[in-house]
Amino acid sequence: MTVSGLATPYGFQDFPNWTEGRSAAIDKIVIHHMATTDYDSVPGIWKTREASAHYGIGQNGQIRAYVDEDNTAWHAGQWSANSSSIGIEHANATGAPDWGIAQATIDASAKLVADIAQRYGFGKVVPYKNLFPHSEFYGTACPGQLKAKLQEIADKANDIMAGGNGNVSTQAAPESVQTPQEDNRSAAIKEFQDKWKNRWALREPFRIRTCEMQYGMYQVLTDDLNVEPNSWFYNGIPTKLLEDLSDPQGRSFENGAMVRFKDDVNFGTIDAYDTNTNSIGILFTGFPYMIWFDADKFLAHA
Ligand SMILES: [Zn+2]
Repeated sequence: MTVSGLATPYGFQDFPNWTEGRSAAIDKIVIHHMATTDYDSVPGIWKTREASAHYGIGQNGQIRAYVDEDNTAWHAGQWSANSSSIGIEHANATGAPDWGIAQATIDASAKLVADIAQRYGFGKVVPYKNLFPHSEFYGTACPGQLKAKLQEIADKANDIMAGGNGNVSTQAAPESVQTPQEDNRSAAIKEFQDKWKNRWALREPFRIRTCEMQYGMYQVLTDDLNVEPNSWFYNGIPTKLLEDLSDPQGRSFENGAMVRFKDDVNFGTIDAYDTNTNSIGILFTGFPYMIWFDADKFLAHA
């Protein structure tokens, strides 16, 4: 078990929404704000909400541990980012619309970031290299004001790692990384983005590997479309969206059955891309969670 010595366990893993172990090495920290001033309500809300994070910092700088760093918390909205990161929540000092963050919270965050960076050998803490806002991985307003504070957190953390007390002033806070990036997109993602203009439609049916009741609805996983490894949380397809071609009534969804998306949902917009795992994310109307598909497999069925 790995928990920062700066943190006190609080409601530790007393909720179901995290995954045992890691499928990647830890090379980054993801910054969140709680979108609540009720510090104590976290992590109790994760008993019903399908989310979690490793740490949470209060308005007075108290640091609580919710999930063992050796386990994968569900905070980034993207499997590859969750597997390779530690998620830190920050309690807000003020509510909507500003969602302010106290200076004591930021100062404590820098200490925790320094501790994590040191233990995992990140080297210098650099925004958008090993310290990310949640919004980098998912379409979200999180982490609110903290997005503009990443440089400050990094500067303080670097000072602490160099033996200082974190009492440094930060000049500019970049909104996002400006360095030109290599095109690391796969041919399939390029085709979806450049040729299809982020639209999709599937011609070919696909085969169910398994169908189960998950998160209150029947869902299927399919080797024909899903990335590997896959999970119900990121890759499950609700049967409500599907038609069962192996059954005249269209609703048995036995393992091995051939299915297709119903006509009215068998097209739409691709809402997110993950070049690291070569996957595409689609938000279906009426379903709150993005479903991730392997870009190559999806294209082969389009
Ligand atoms: Zn977040």
